[in-house]
Amino acid sequence: MVRELIENSKKIVIKIGSNTLSNEDGSINREFLKAFSNQVAHLMGMGKQVVIVSSGARISGVATLGKWKRRQDMHYKQALCAIGQVELMDAYKKVFLDYNYHIAQLLLTRGDFSDPHRILNIRNTLFTLVDEGVIPIINENDTVSVEEIKIGDNDTLAALTSNLWNADLLILFSDIDGIYDKNPKTCEDANLIEEVRDIDALVKEIEIGDTNDFGTGGIATKIEAARKVNNYGTPMILANGKKENIIFKLLEGTEKATIFWPNN
Ligand code: ADP
Repeated sequence: MVRELIENSKKIVIKIGSNTLSNEDGSINREFLKAFSNQVAHLMGMGKQVVIVSSGARISGVATLGKWKRRQDMHYKQALCAIGQVELMDAYKKVFLDYNYHIAQLLLTRGDFSDPHRILNIRNTLFTLVDEGVIPIINENDTVSVEEIKIGDNDTLAALTSNLWNADLLILFSDIDGIYDKNPKTCEDANLIEEVRDIDALVKEIEIGDTNDFGTGGIATKIEAARKVNNYGTPMILANGKKENIIFKLLEGTEKATIFWPNN
């Protein structure tokens, strides 16, 4: 099912979480990025268009500077993101150049999604980049986003992007295979739910546990992201980005994931 869904989707938004992107010590996992770029290049070779939403600016900032890890003041967090965003893009740029793809950086905030002029501009830029074979990489613009006006997590940013671009499919990569009836990190007997057709019913049935250290949104924001894109008629896949060559495996049908189907 997952395989058919990916095969039948032309415009795909892929979100990479900090957990997926980083090593245990918080540095950028370059092996992952190499393998990921290879898989994205493969998707593009299949005639698909890909937009990436990537977290990881702050952890890259910490890894680059080697300090400020525990600073909680807003302006230090923002400074770390500003430093780390450059590192992050540099890492993406290098791996995609091996496949002759250029990347482009788009930094967005919540306000950008509620102003019709900005929406139009973002949409035009996205369409132009993608039509020209460039891979847009989107992240929240942390410099201008204080807590109160933040989107706050990239699951939501990815869903908003997916709707704005009229994507055919949103794929969220996390460090679990999909949605479970309870937190798989703490409950050994948790069962994977492979298909969701009714989010309200799902939320009543499952236990939503805590997220881990690097995670921001937790599973709740992933469910809400699914609701947002499903409302636009777009399906969403939640899959395990920590598994080696996960996109290839999903295409071969050798790994499981959760599909959230729009209910129409
Ligand atoms: P990411 O950083 O990849 O966006 P998060 O760490 O924010 O991901 O959220 C994913 C985490 O949510 C999983 O690692 C898991 O421990 C936790 N979780 C809690 N409840 C559930 C559940 N019912 N099903 C799946 N994961 C769950």
